[in-house]
Parts: sequence; structure tokens; C-alpha cells
Amino acid sequence: MAQAKKTLPVPAPLGDDAVREEFPRDWTDIRGHTSIIRRLRALAAAEHLPHALLLSGMEGIGKRRTARVLARTLLCERAGDAPCGHCDACRTMAAGVHPDYFETAPEARGKSAAMIRTEAVRDILIAASGAPVAGRRRIILIDGADAMNETAANRLLKTIEEPMGEVLFLLVTSAYDAILPTIRSRAVRIAFGTLTRAEIEAALRERGTENAATIAALADGSLGRAYALAAEGLQLRDEALALLVQLPKLRVEDIWAHAETIGTRTHAERTAWIGFLQMALRDLLVLHENGAAELCHTDRREELAALLPQLTRADLFTLMEEARQLSQRFAANVNPALQTEAFLLRARHNMTSSLPSAFPA
Ligand SMILES: [Zn+2]
Repeated sequence: MAQAKKTLPVPAPLGDDAVREEFPRDWTDIRGHTSIIRRLRALAAAEHLPHALLLSGMEGIGKRRTARVLARTLLCERAGDAPCGHCDACRTMAAGVHPDYFETAPEARGKSAAMIRTEAVRDILIAASGAPVAGRRRIILIDGADAMNETAANRLLKTIEEPMGEVLFLLVTSAYDAILPTIRSRAVRIAFGTLTRAEIEAALRERGTENAATIAALADGSLGRAYALAAEGLQLRDEALALLVQLPKLRVEDIWAHAETIGTRTHAERTAWIGFLQMALRDLLVLHENGAAELCHTDRREELAALLPQLTRADLFTLMEEARQLSQRFAANVNPALQTEAFLLRARHNMTSSLPSAFPA
């Protein structure tokens, strides 16, 4: 899936090879975001573009896809508001060898994993400093633009301020606040919202995904997350919910064993696991308040509702706070098994303390 000569490996959303996406052909390959697309098409058709666009929003919602289609549109020889798909420029883009298109992303693995190397930024800026070879401009897409260190970001800033020739930077980030303020102030921000459940469900159904509605509800507005869930299956989610349901009856030894298991998981799995628990707690709060809000675990309403007699509203808020803290500790990667054990013991206590006496405290 390499695109253009200078392309580095692009990690898929959530880092799963199974959900690697194809390079999109045109605007119809993007889900949702209709008003953003309308705006970008108008800018492209009018040739009215700043030196840098900053596409921001949560992970897995189509920011990079949108940036790529914009790049195709702007490099197409027809100079319209969409790539024609037939001209030389469109064909070389499709083959991944357009001489005026450059793309970089954080390293997928190794010493500088999750970082954009300073050398990668330097190389791309050198490559982009000449005049366009085939088109009217050069286009540089930097995915995960927040992952540049300060040296790299400052180099980039200098080029944005004093571009040599026609060059457009497409900066993509799911961590807008982590972008240097000096870069933010020189780029035009395009802020992406999340996708609706219906949009995600439709995309999953088109791929023939089983449990499309369940997965769409768990995806939290992110198509990338939905595809990852579809590829990985719901086992981790089912485990997390089963543990929550059984928790009041578990012995300390069982809790040790569960915590141990969580400790052996990968960081991504642990993060997903606590995320599923957090969604369950949010669902419980919705059920508690008889709210009309949709549940995340739509398919598990009964099971969750059965837990309600054991949890007051205050209990739920306590548990949500504890889960939030556990999630932060996972991020800091400090002895996850021990942290999980402490969380589960406290959660069990929380779930049993409002009960008369049937369960061990
Ligand atoms: Zn074309």
C-alpha cells in the first residue's frame, strides 16, 4: 500500500494490520463529514488554499482518507473539485508514484515507535523544496503530526512560514492540543466530528460484517475502531462484561487470576478492556436514570440491568472514577496486574457494600 516514493509505513488506526485501509480514490470513499467535504471541494475548485491545513478529530474517523482525496483532487490535471481518475496525475497517484506527493507518519515499531523521526521530516522537506515536477504544487501529508518532536516541528514551521515554491501541507492529528501553538496558528484547522452509529453500521453492513449494529454502538463514532473491532471480534468485550457481572461473587483468588491475565495482555488490549468496562458503567448510569440515551453495549441491556440493584448512583460515579484512574495508570504502564487487582477489589467492595449480606465483602 505504499504511496509515493517517500512514503513510510502507515500504521492503521489502533495499530492493527487487519484494518489497513486502501488509498481512497475519490470523495465517495469517505463516510460522513459531508459539510467538511463540501468545503474542501469548494476550496480545491477555487484553487483557494492556505499553505497548511490541519485536519483534527478523534482517531479512525477518516481524516487521513479525506486528506488523501484532497491531495488527489489537487494533483489531478483537470483541476476540478474531484479527481478525474483518468489523467496521468490520477494514474500515477493510483500507482503510488506521483512525484509531487509525499506522505509520512509515525514509525510503527522500533526505537522511535509512535514518533515521527526528525530525519523523516528533514527528508520530506528537502524533497518538497524543489519546484513541482508534474503538477501545479507539491503536497506533503504528515499523519500523526502531533508525533513530531520539537526539532522536527520547528523545521516544518520554518517551511510553512517561508515555503519554497508551491507546496501544501496536510497535517493530520487526533491530538490537536499536542501540536505546537506556532504551527496551529499558521494552519487552517478542519475539525472533524465523530460519525453517527447509522453511518458506521452502514459501512460495516456493506463489508458484510456480522454484528454490525453491536459493533457500531461500541465504536464510539470511529469507523477505524469499528473495523478493528470487526477484525478482532468481541471476545475481549465479552470477557470484560462477564467479569463485571460476576464480580460481586468472585473470591479474592479469582480476582488475582483475572488481574494476572490482564497483566499479560498487550497495552492495546488492556486499553480496550478498560474502555469496554467504562462503557458498561456509562450504560449502567443511563439505565439507572431510565435515560433515553442509547447504550454502548446495546446487545447486553438485560444483563447490565440485572446489576442495577447492586449499585447506587453514587457507587456508579465512584466506579467510573476508579476506572478512569485505572485507564490512566495503564497509559503510564505501571504494573498493570497490580493496578487491575486493586481496581477489581475496590469495585467488588463497591458492588457488594450496598447489599445485605449474601456476598463476601
Ligand atoms: Zn485526474
